[in-house]
Amino acid sequence: MAFDSLSEKLQNVFKNLRSKGRLTEDDVKAALKEVKMALLEADVNFKVVKQFVKDVQERAIGQDVMNGLNPGQMVIKIVNEEMVRLMGSETTEIALRPGKELTIIMMAGLQGAGKTTTTAKIAGKLKAKGKKVLLAACDVYRPAAIEQLQINGEKQGVEVFSMGDKNTPVNIAKAAVEHATKNDFNVLIIDTAGRLHVDEDMMAELIQIKENVAVSQTILVVDAMTGQDAVNVAKTFDEKIGIDGVVLTKLDGDTRGGAALSIRAVTGKPILYAGMGEKLSDLEQFYPDRMASRILG
Ligand code: GDP
Repeated sequence: MAFDSLSEKLQNVFKNLRSKGRLTEDDVKAALKEVKMALLEADVNFKVVKQFVKDVQERAIGQDVMNGLNPGQMVIKIVNEEMVRLMGSETTEIALRPGKELTIIMMAGLQGAGKTTTTAKIAGKLKAKGKKVLLAACDVYRPAAIEQLQINGEKQGVEVFSMGDKNTPVNIAKAAVEHATKNDFNVLIIDTAGRLHVDEDMMAELIQIKENVAVSQTILVVDAMTGQDAVNVAKTFDEKIGIDGVVLTKLDGDTRGGAALSIRAVTGKPILYAGMGEKLSDLEQFYPDRMASRILG
């Protein structure tokens, strides 16, 4: 399960805290030092860890906590609350345009992050909300990406707009918008091409789509298992093309949790969904409070 190693370490720190009746300032500091180590080992961004520990410490060394009946429990509660805050506190939904207006979502991300799979997963979620969803196959470079989207679209019962791999992504996107508008679709999700690494051509292509199509939401897909790399990728995409939210994939295989805990704080952008497996139903709305509970065990 996700975050196993981080959870185990934090639980050990907490067990120690709970076993003490009273806490001195040094007890709290020593415990938070261990929390800091655990977070760093979990590949949480260094600056995020520093600020997090500072915030917890300021609250935990306050009079109310130290004089309380059960200071250990109070410190744990503060860690929990600060962790929820770190991940954005509230659940953020994909913003849909009002009424019958077409919402255009552009998916972005590096190759292998899970973009095409996530595109189909999100289509399923929106369809379940009663939306008529069209997918546009604009990943014209990765062999089999178009076919993969078609197969997944079919599984989800949503139409896939494709013009093969001989057209440019921007032309396919424009034609898809026309098709969506003509046929009363509510949502168009554009699956774009990734590259193995952050790459100028990829960014230029995404910017070109944004300049030619009225994209309402740009959603970045990143692989949680890559830890801080995922966070750096998110920062770069946001700086270059501007993103509205992130989907964190492969959280089912992420034992560390560094990306989940850092992305919001580093980019300021919310995590919308968590990918929890390869099946098209394995996409969960991201709840910061539930995620913190999972991490803290
Ligand atoms: P793309 O290149 O970004 O479009 O990536 P794909 O959608 O083709 O996904 C790459 C691989 O990751 C595929 O084998 C997917 O099944 C897998 N994958 C995607 N999302 C998840 C997830 O949340 N959990 C797991 N375990 N695998 C995932």
